[in-house]
Amino acid sequence: VIVPEQRDPAGNLTLTGPQQHYLQRVRRLKMGDPFLVLDGSGGLWMAHWQPQGSQVVGWVETRPRELPIQIHLGLAVVKGPGLDEVFRQVTELGVARITPLLTERTVLEPGSGRQERWQKIVQEAAEQCERLRWPQIDPPTAWTHWIRELQANWWGIAVARREAPLLLQALPKPVGDGDPAGWIAIAIGPEGGWTAAEIEQAQAQGGMPVSLGSTILRATTAAVVAVSLIAAAYPN
Ligand code: SAM
Repeated sequence: VIVPEQRDPAGNLTLTGPQQHYLQRVRRLKMGDPFLVLDGSGGLWMAHWQPQGSQVVGWVETRPRELPIQIHLGLAVVKGPGLDEVFRQVTELGVARITPLLTERTVLEPGSGRQERWQKIVQEAAEQCERLRWPQIDPPTAWTHWIRELQANWWGIAVARREAPLLLQALPKPVGDGDPAGWIAIAIGPEGGWTAAEIEQAQAQGGMPVSLGSTILRATTAAVVAVSLIAAAYPN
């Protein structure tokens, strides 16, 4: 599967050098061989390889790979390379939007290079797992701003406290076919956890404190677990 740089109205694709290299040298396509093309916003075509470009030859039917709900992950920026891997994994799991959060205990503010890397990671992950849409990545956002602007039909704040209800039990029930619950958002805190004030702010904005189980997970693990549980609750 290849994401073209451009597609003109006549259906000609412009592929990057590495994409051409991949098709020709790695996949060893011969003149006229078919390959799949997606544009990251829902379009999927079959194209036929021609050196110097490729002609789109028609639409192909595919089974929808998107979840029936849209998951918005608010993830506190944490140190270490593990964070990049979370972007890949939650993309594979079907997340629709990711906001890196700057919380009171966040110790690191990511630069623009890091943000570009995340964008590249989610596009590659979407391509690899044949998702038709790649997730939206927001710029790093202050927690208080995020909770004010958040548009979700339901949202939870993951807190490492045993007394909080389990995420799976707190999620709204599917209401029927089609779009059962719209947007579901979940916030994951930093290494040092949320402050009491941040949890109160979340509750004041309709956020529900939820537990992911009785052990204390790393923030990166918690993000993957939370998205997995939400995805599993609304299968397509
Ligand atoms: N000492 C911190 C505390 O008590 O909050 C631990 C923070 S934990 C390493 C990082 C983040 O992962 C938490 O803020 C929370 O969002 C999430 N998390 C980890 N384990 C969790 C659990 N069992 N249930 C819910 N959230 C969890």
